Amino acid sequence: MKLLAKQTKEELIEKLSIAKEPIVIYGAGVCGQVLLLACKGAGIQVESFCDNNIKKKGKSLNGLEIIHTNDIENRHPEAIFLISAADIKDIKNHLVDYGYSESNLHPGGLILKDFDYSEFRNHYEPYNNEDKDKGFVEFAIASTIECHDGYLDPKKLFMRSVDIVVTEKCTMKCVDCSNLMQFFEKPENYEIDEMSKAIELLCLYSDQIFEFRIIGGEPFVNKNVHNVIERLISEPKVKRIVIYTNGNVIPRENQIECLRHKKVLMNITDYSRSGEKSEDKYTKKLSRFVRTTDKLEQLCIDNKIDYRRHPPENWTDCGRIENFNRTVEENQRVYDECGCKNLTTLSKNELHRCPFSAQITRLGVCDEKEDYVDLTEHTDPIANRKAIKSLLEDKVTLKACDFCPGRALHDPQIIPAKQIKMPLPYKRNIEATNS
Ligand code: SF4
Ligand code: SF4
Repeated sequence: MKLLAKQTKEELIEKLSIAKEPIVIYGAGVCGQVLLLACKGAGIQVESFCDNNIKKKGKSLNGLEIIHTNDIENRHPEAIFLISAADIKDIKNHLVDYGYSESNLHPGGLILKDFDYSEFRNHYEPYNNEDKDKGFVEFAIASTIECHDGYLDPKKLFMRSVDIVVTEKCTMKCVDCSNLMQFFEKPENYEIDEMSKAIELLCLYSDQIFEFRIIGGEPFVNKNVHNVIERLISEPKVKRIVIYTNGNVIPRENQIECLRHKKVLMNITDYSRSGEKSEDKYTKKLSRFVRTTDKLEQLCIDNKIDYRRHPPENWTDCGRIENFNRTVEENQRVYDECGCKNLTTLSKNELHRCPFSAQITRLGVCDEKEDYVDLTEHTDPIANRKAIKSLLEDKVTLKACDFCPGRALHDPQIIPAKQIKMPLPYKRNIEATNS
């Protein structure tokens, strides 16, 4: 039976409960933990977790070992996988590359469906000890269920996630910002009408977009950001809206109502402790943000806004622009290993595979038309739909990858949020690399 084959929840539970092979839950996050609870309740014995995050390697979660993806084949060559992460397509491809048969890969979302996880809080082990959240667990579980459903229906043009940058301005200047804000010398807020038009076109051509991620810069620096949020709330094809904020800007009074909507989650990265050990005076100053971040969290609690507050996570050396001049094969490897190639990004009327591609196009580093879809290019909706499907399903690399250090999940972690005073001159950076 293939992953894509139709099976009911009952059929899957029956198959797994009598399986002789070890059962491994792929994804040692919140959904993995809920899935483990559901398996225990259904009489399915789980052997271990598997995850591609190097920081989790060898740790234990809910009493089970977390095996890193690179080691799983040696440890459990016959494993049956229950995928708990929302990114089911990427994980399936990854495991098939490791030599696992597709018939041994199963969507955990099927088992999570209708599972009563009210007891889960008693078992929950958050990723960071400092994590605080309200509504995040529910959000993550709904993501997995809906993304697995969407993926299993091949006729649908289903998009798991779309980033929309609402501003290039930020209250911080991180030298390694993965969204490349450090290179914008004259940062701007983006126009609401332009973003609304792009959202309208994308929704017209797709069947469902599970999540829109509102990013910047700092989204609340754009005083009209609520108009984009409201536009997305009113769009039935969009199921969730996540706002990525650095916690330094308190939303205005007129913005709070839309944040209370059940589709919306605030993802607050708390940078206030990131400068504690730094010698550098700009980075040290990050501690001044603690009061604003506390105030923002309190605002979420008082207004019943779903949120997650957490320290910066998983920073890698990916915030650089260089002309790497790799071979086609090398760029394919960078793309294959990249954990961000499905962070589809809407920029002007262009749909890009990842934020890096969108940002270097904005910066004028390159403009590779085959890397993105111009949503205004065809008047025929079928042609546009076809172009989007091809962008999502047929790409094996991007021209943009040749300018990108890559974003593999096994890349070494770097110190997050080191601050600089001035924007970086990216052109000189490329010239220096070439010389
Ligand atoms: S807080 Fe730092 S990482 Fe986040 S958008 Fe601003 S500059 Fe980039
Ligand atoms: S440019 Fe390529 S390697 Fe870089 S984030 Fe995008 S897909 Fe990944």
